[in-house]
Amino acid sequence: MLILVINCGSSSCKYQLFDIKSKKSLAKGIIERIGQRNSGCKNHYQAIKLIRDKLPSSEIKGIGHRVVHGGEEFKEAVVIKKNVLRSIERASELAPLHNPPSLAGIKACKRYFPKIPQIAVFDTAFHQSMPAHAYIYGIPFRFYRKYKIRRYGFHGTSHRFVANEASRKLKKPLRRLKIITAHLGNGCSMTAVLRGKAIDTTMGFTPLEGLLMGTRGGDLDPAIVTFLMEKERLSTTEINEILNKKSGLLGISGVSNDMRDILVKMKKGNARARLAFRIFIYRIKKYIGAYHAIMGGLDAVVFTGGIGENLPGLRQMLSRELRGVLGNKAKFLTIPTNEELLIARDTYRLIKAN
Ligand code: ADP
Repeated sequence: MLILVINCGSSSCKYQLFDIKSKKSLAKGIIERIGQRNSGCKNHYQAIKLIRDKLPSSEIKGIGHRVVHGGEEFKEAVVIKKNVLRSIERASELAPLHNPPSLAGIKACKRYFPKIPQIAVFDTAFHQSMPAHAYIYGIPFRFYRKYKIRRYGFHGTSHRFVANEASRKLKKPLRRLKIITAHLGNGCSMTAVLRGKAIDTTMGFTPLEGLLMGTRGGDLDPAIVTFLMEKERLSTTEINEILNKKSGLLGISGVSNDMRDILVKMKKGNARARLAFRIFIYRIKKYIGAYHAIMGGLDAVVFTGGIGENLPGLRQMLSRELRGVLGNKAKFLTIPTNEELLIARDTYRLIKAN
């Protein structure tokens, strides 16, 4: 059975076609520069039509969409019906850059694959199992009620995928494991997975919180934001730009947001590149300690994402430096993430169930 996975961003649309029985990826690609001049693709409708025309569309039995934000409503993947579309629309307020393109992709698929069931798989869903003491912020409670300001967490599909794979590798069911998953790509986040359930995660109301990332600074005293806005006379757009695009590895090193460049500069003796790298590692170490404490033990730390998968030195360094605290029991694993495959599996499972 063929399942199509769609991941729409504001100016791109990634797709991957799976044969679900063999778990094989049969085709994948990306339509880029959607909506830009001379790109040949005006909008997401055209992008989906282009994808349909490339693939053996009549054999596709289900479409799974990656949706960034499911708010508090979606705790797992769902079949997309009218009410689901409305809920995704509502959650757009929380992810104004990410949910609208997903919605456009879903609507386009409804037009070009009218008879095929569609499923939404949310980046936030896996983290919905967090207890209130992990997701409520220390601000007046009415803001949670009024605006739903709370920790949501992101990269959920990746954390769920690698936690499952870790359980297979360790030959132990998830319900008997205490795992920390670290998704380290351009965006970086860590999750404490206790007996298969996420109980805390480093990203928060938005993906800005937690670890040091390529261009996001992660944890920050919020007073810095108002201080900077006042001193530098910054608008909300400008401060957002600084926090999302100019901070992190890039902001500290002044070199690059890309870990490979940081490593090269570090080797050449660049002190700020070294500082950025040390901060990157320090935060990861700090959260391993914190999550070890809240889970009351640790069986494995799993690294994934571009940095997590390709920088084995990181895993070795952390396992060596933390040995004294964690003992010999905790394993440090690298597991390549495959969010698309998990979306395809969820899609298949829901189609079968319905
Ligand atoms: P995204 O979050 O956009 O999906 P990726 O998961 O591809 O990004 O991760 C991108 C990051 O992975 C970049 O910082 C890049 O430098 C880093 N990376 C890729 N290959 C290596 C490598 N061999 N060594 C260290 N870092 C790497």
